[in-house]
Amino acid sequence: GVRVRFCPSPTGSPHVGFARTALYNWVFARQHGGTFVFRVEDTDKERSTQESYDGMLGAMRWLGLDWDEGPEVGGPHAPYRQSERGEVYTDALRRLRESSYTYDCYCTTQEVDERRKASGSKIQGYDGFCRDLSPEQVSRFEAEGRRPVVRFRMPDGSVTWDDLVRGEVTFETAHVPDFALCRANGDPLYTLVNPVDDATMGITHVIRGEDLLSSTPRQIPLHRALVDLGLSAAVPAFGHLPLVTGEGNKKLSKRDPEAHLFMYRDDGFLPEGLLNYLALLGWAIAEDRDVFTVAEMVEAFDIARVNPNPARFDLKKAEAINGDHMRMLSTEELTGRIVPYLQGAGVLADPVTDEQSALLAAAVPLVHERINKLTEAAPMLGFLFADTVEYDDADVAKLLDEAGQEVVRASREALAALGEWTTEAIEAALRERLVEGLGLKPRNAFGPVRVAVTGRRVSPPLFESLELLGRDESLARLDGALE
Ligand code: GLU
Repeated sequence: GVRVRFCPSPTGSPHVGFARTALYNWVFARQHGGTFVFRVEDTDKERSTQESYDGMLGAMRWLGLDWDEGPEVGGPHAPYRQSERGEVYTDALRRLRESSYTYDCYCTTQEVDERRKASGSKIQGYDGFCRDLSPEQVSRFEAEGRRPVVRFRMPDGSVTWDDLVRGEVTFETAHVPDFALCRANGDPLYTLVNPVDDATMGITHVIRGEDLLSSTPRQIPLHRALVDLGLSAAVPAFGHLPLVTGEGNKKLSKRDPEAHLFMYRDDGFLPEGLLNYLALLGWAIAEDRDVFTVAEMVEAFDIARVNPNPARFDLKKAEAINGDHMRMLSTEELTGRIVPYLQGAGVLADPVTDEQSALLAAAVPLVHERINKLTEAAPMLGFLFADTVEYDDADVAKLLDEAGQEVVRASREALAALGEWTTEAIEAALRERLVEGLGLKPRNAFGPVRVAVTGRRVSPPLFESLELLGRDESLARLDGALE
């Protein structure tokens, strides 16, 4: 069956490219009834941190991308952290070293550099000097106290593979020098551990970012060697996903705030909204359709139809798509998602009181169509729950000027005289008094009332808001806005 893997290095906070690669692998596994393996590539002890590791797992959980094998879940190839798999690598290295696929290399970096300068060669990397050392040369190097690294012997000619995304890709091996698999002290290098893990974990499809394309011509011959040595059943298929670019079509870098996954969570994205947007970074469900669920993606995804060209990240579009996913939720479901954000913003108590609960149930429908992110609920609904209105200075200056004050005074009179306090009655009274009576355009009539009562120019619908706020509180706020 299909076995794919997602194998981030826990260095830094999870970013957008990380999540897109995870999603595509997860979807590929699910649509083939395959296995999604989560492996942690923490061989770089200097740069790997526990905080980053926790962040990676947290990000996967937030996105709902569950793994079948990996940290905390276990599986037949445990452990799934490279830092705990030392024996697997020493064993593979020993087998490779006993074969003719590798050779011991005693050269120092300095010697390699000097030879390159002397020969005028433009090819970076190793020149193959130690490929065919005689036993005498080896004894001499050993006697000098040199310790060898193990180098992989790149085959002559070219390496070609049928990339799942790009079609046929070929590299001339003349440009791919023999590479080291371990340090002189025997510590395995990343060049060894990544393919050895894929091989021994039975990975059938390696789907990853384009930044790793240039390592594939080294990894495929190594995979072939591992198959030949009986360490692996078959060379996996490879597919390279397009680069994600940001502003100015430059690669989205870790310095760009929108590159960081948790920004979206903190900013009030739904995981399903973000996943939908991430899916679009290289794939489309249909030419005229942007909004879909992960389940629909699992149905329709086709790795062969992934676009190899760079995908530009568009935050505005991501927000709009998130808004569409908010609309897809029932009011009840949306309310549940909004509550923690309102608590975080200090709008609601924790736990929410019964009174707040009732008010919230009536208020969320008023903003359901109007907000694209969960964080937008607090500024929109805060006025309903606050004892004192928080006024936006700019909106006050603009709308509660002298003319605005007049409007507020007239509204207060009209509303104070009102019999029943319903949305319809409130609207009728205000229209009669302000639009018909004072001859104001609706925009000029209701703007000042809105700022007086909610503190801002942007709020849920005014008449509904006044009803929810209640007569006493509404009148008190209109009074408060009058100088
Ligand atoms: N650990 C690598 C990274 O974080 C992934 C390598 C791979 O997918 O083969 O970029």
